[in-house]
Amino acid sequence: MDIMKKVPVREQDPKVRATNFDEVCLGYNADEAKEEANRCLTCQNAQCVKACPVAIDIPGFIKEIKEGNFEEAGYVIGRSSALPAVCGRVCPQESQCEGKCIRGIKGEPVSIGKLERFVADYARQNGIKPKKPESSNGRKVAVIGSGPAGLTCAGDLAKMGYDVTIFEALHEAGGVLVYGIPEFRLPKDEVVKKEIENVKSLGVKIETDVVIGKSVTIDELMEKEGFEAVFIGSGAGLPRFMGIPGETASGVFSANEYLTRSNLMKAFRDDYDTPIKPGKKVAVVGGGNVAMDAARTALRLGADVHIVYRRSEEELPARVEEVHHTKEEGIIFDLLTNPTEILVDENGWVCGMKCIRMELGEPDESGRRSPVEIPGSEFVIDVDTVIMSLGTSPNPLISSTTDGLDINKRKCIVASDETGATSKPGVFAGGDAVTGAATVILAMGAGKTAAKGIDEYLKNK
Ligand SMILES: Cc1cc2nc3c(=O)[nH]c(=O)nc-3n(C[C@H](O)[C@H](O)[C@H](O)COP(=O)(O)OP(=O)(O)OC[C@H]3O[C@@H](n4cnc5c(N)ncnc54)[C@H](O)[C@@H]3O)c2cc1C
Ligand code: SF4
Repeated sequence: MDIMKKVPVREQDPKVRATNFDEVCLGYNADEAKEEANRCLTCQNAQCVKACPVAIDIPGFIKEIKEGNFEEAGYVIGRSSALPAVCGRVCPQESQCEGKCIRGIKGEPVSIGKLERFVADYARQNGIKPKKPESSNGRKVAVIGSGPAGLTCAGDLAKMGYDVTIFEALHEAGGVLVYGIPEFRLPKDEVVKKEIENVKSLGVKIETDVVIGKSVTIDELMEKEGFEAVFIGSGAGLPRFMGIPGETASGVFSANEYLTRSNLMKAFRDDYDTPIKPGKKVAVVGGGNVAMDAARTALRLGADVHIVYRRSEEELPARVEEVHHTKEEGIIFDLLTNPTEILVDENGWVCGMKCIRMELGEPDESGRRSPVEIPGSEFVIDVDTVIMSLGTSPNPLISSTTDGLDINKRKCIVASDETGATSKPGVFAGGDAVTGAATVILAMGAGKTAAKGIDEYLKNK
């Protein structure tokens, strides 16, 4: 074994997995996990922990793996995270814990994410549940949205003894974890639902099909239903479009719609009644994780897929692992390319996409070099489906139906970084609803912060 390198993780063969929705990464077995754990130096002043938004005791749980105490490793993680099997699979570890691991200075960092996943999978497969709170204080808190922010806030409050109800607009709990991230990266029944069951086992109630702002308002929850505090974790599910001609044609999807149809409505399964028109030649516009997910879903539904991105490979915002997997599966990247028009046939369907080549100019406010059009370089891509993956913003429904709730220019709810408190007394917020589209672990961190903020607020009320 080369101690400078990670123990390789087993994955489905790219050619095989491009034709199925089964999970790509197969994870470590117990021997592989122990071998990888032995690469950890159990640093006293562990930088990996400082880089984790929920401050998991990383050397602590890895030490338990080294000694074969997998159940105890699960409890160590459980003190900080309610969704370890999810985070082990989808967190951008390379820019967080693993990005700061001391092993990474001279070699490859410890594979913290894969070890977290191993521990969480072990706990689930062996029926190990989180420890239940000992007593309840009977005080009611409402949580809006059942994504990672809402689940984490609810779980932490339940552990403190609060009577927590999550209100979720969709018919299934989980937020982006169920409707956005595809099955081949994050299995729904086996992983997401089980971690949600764990949160429920702490006493959290989940009411689905309740749209706050329509079915009931926040003011009604607080004034009529007896909730003493509310946490808003409603995410950022409103897709953006480019505003180019042809964008309203049949065959143009937002990535959110495409993925929701596939993931939540199971359009990829023959035995479901909600099929999607998969397209034969698909262009996905954008370069983030969402674009990679949409492209890989379209591939699995049988299409030839291109990713069209206006900057270069270096600026691709998606996780390195996702870009690597996407390329391995045979998806073509049209980089430094920007759509200018979607061509539409006589029946109103997409029949091509006009694009222009770009080059990189000076850095913009994000620090990335901004793309500039190369005059006269227009060309047409032959496509029948276009999936726009240009980012999302929070839905204004809650802010427009709640008196005294401040939002910023980007329509995000304004909340304190330290407590999650908003401008409205008793109302807290966190996750994508506050930051705009971000990551699972940042949403979880915000949920944790708000749970502490709510506890402080209610103790002093
Ligand atoms: C396709 C895709 C892939 C991604 N991949 C990754 C990845 O690999 N790694 C990573 O870290 N992050 C990834 N992300 C981002 C990550 O999933 C989000 O940052 C995270 O889910 C945000 O959590 P949240 O709890 O704030 O919101 P969400 O997960 O969006 O949950 C919000 C919930 O609130 C509900 N809701 C909204 N309005 C109301 C209302 N009025 N009443 C009741 N309920 C309401 C919604 O239905 C939803 O269930 C991805 C996102 C997408 C879309
Ligand atoms: S920084 Fe790396 S080596 Fe040190 S404790 Fe964290 S995972 Fe282990």
